Amino acid sequence: MTERQYVEGKKPDREIPADKIGRLELPTEQDAKSRTPGDEASGRTSPFWVKCWSCHQYLTRPLSPPSEQAYTCPNCGAVNQI
Ligand SMILES: [Zn+2]
Repeated sequence: MTERQYVEGKKPDREIPADKIGRLELPTEQDAKSRTPGDEASGRTSPFWVKCWSCHQYLTRPLSPPSEQAYTCPNCGAVNQI
């Protein structure tokens, strides 16, 4: 159960209004390596992972399942639609 769950970001095929674009976060070094099962038990929220279509970095979105929304990658600035 070490596999990380993520969705792959897509390049949006349409214009997305700026106010509809959220922000993804770069994971911390520790998160990038592996998360321990104790993370959630200790009150940390489980991040939701997105793989940037442009730079292929794994990024996190705090909380909750994916919705049809766009997010800006903080690493390369590309907009990911998920
Ligand atoms: Zn990126």
